[in-house]
Amino acid sequence: MTKTALDTKKKRKKKGTEETPVPHIGKINKELLLDLAAKHGTPIFVIDHEKLRENYREFRRHLPDVQVYFAVKANSNPEIVKTLFKIGSSFDVASMPEFMIVYENIRDMPKNERQEWIWDKIIYANTIKPIETLEALDKYKPLVTFDNHHEILKIRDHAPHAGLVLRIRVPNTGSMVELSSKFGAHPGEAVDLIAEAFDNGLVVEGLSFHVGSQCTNFENYMQALQLSANIIKEVEDRIGKKIRILDIGGGFPVKYHPGIRSIRTLARKLNMEIKRLFPTDMQILAEPGRFLVANTCTLVAKVVGKAVRDGKPCYYINDGVYHTYSGQVFDHINYPVLPFKEGETQISAVFGPTCDAFDTITLSAELPDLEIGDLVYSENIGAYSHASSTYFNGFPPAKVVHINR
Ligand SMILES: *Cc1c(COP(=O)(O)O)cnc(C)c1O
Repeated sequence: MTKTALDTKKKRKKKGTEETPVPHIGKINKELLLDLAAKHGTPIFVIDHEKLRENYREFRRHLPDVQVYFAVKANSNPEIVKTLFKIGSSFDVASMPEFMIVYENIRDMPKNERQEWIWDKIIYANTIKPIETLEALDKYKPLVTFDNHHEILKIRDHAPHAGLVLRIRVPNTGSMVELSSKFGAHPGEAVDLIAEAFDNGLVVEGLSFHVGSQCTNFENYMQALQLSANIIKEVEDRIGKKIRILDIGGGFPVKYHPGIRSIRTLARKLNMEIKRLFPTDMQILAEPGRFLVANTCTLVAKVVGKAVRDGKPCYYINDGVYHTYSGQVFDHINYPVLPFKEGETQISAVFGPTCDAFDTITLSAELPDLEIGDLVYSENIGAYSHASSTYFNGFPPAKVVHINR
């Protein structure tokens, strides 16, 4: 925990020599980022744990009846898992290593007294699970998702103690990252699959969906809720079983720019529709990933090279699209590269450090004249960024620095 940098900043302020206003980057400011870069070197990936707690509380405030299962794949840093666990979060994992990150970090935490804790604290939300994984998970009696016939047989044979959640395919019009081409049973097959699981001696506890990531078209959620309600009713009517869990997945949008509607609007619609469609004893789960972590992280990188090509200034920095900026490829989000320095700007290109021309962060950043050694930063880079960073060309992922306010 890097309390020191903030403390230093406070001390400096008290001295009160020349008080210049510090430009704010959310709650982290430029001065702090420069301090951290001086202390740790670059590139650094700064995680603001207070912001993380704020995001969690905001989600809970707007959706008070929804239990939060943080989708670990968005940012699997163990300190994030610990901070979220301490304030009550549960977790959505999608691989055995992700399961172990959560399990090993929360296993011995004091709040964890329940015997059957895993039912409350982890959902394994990958509908496709290797046989070895099922065998390793079975003793924990995990909650797992499925969406097809072959998976039912695998679970029957290798993890019969699991509780099952059927994932259905729902509309995802307008979401930034779509998931429905890869996952989810067609709603028309849902009841048959649930019946088949019961016939094989398994227990289906719930239904789940994912409307696609960074979902700004809230109609997707509304249609998904209606589809779920229809299926749950038909399961009761046709096979006499009660579905107790509804998992509304992720997709909750982040305000990457001011035009994106806030969670408040979505939450109001969700709360109303959930109340209208489901009995009050239905357990509602959500698996927010991006929403909890995107704005908690800031990247600081350094200019390591400079050239002029076709009249355009080109900067080479020590992080790129194989690393923290990988979200530009996999997550379709652009992260503006911002200068610490002020001055007249020019359209400039910014490249990552590897020997691949694909490692281009932007061809059109508005940047002042930068020198080798100058620092730049990118905000809101906490989701699907560091998590998909590689070691390509020998460049390791950015060093993680934690901030606790
Ligand atoms: C990726 C994923 C999430 C998280 O999605 P966000 O859009 O980041 O909230 C949740 N559930 C499942 C099953 C996922 O695959």
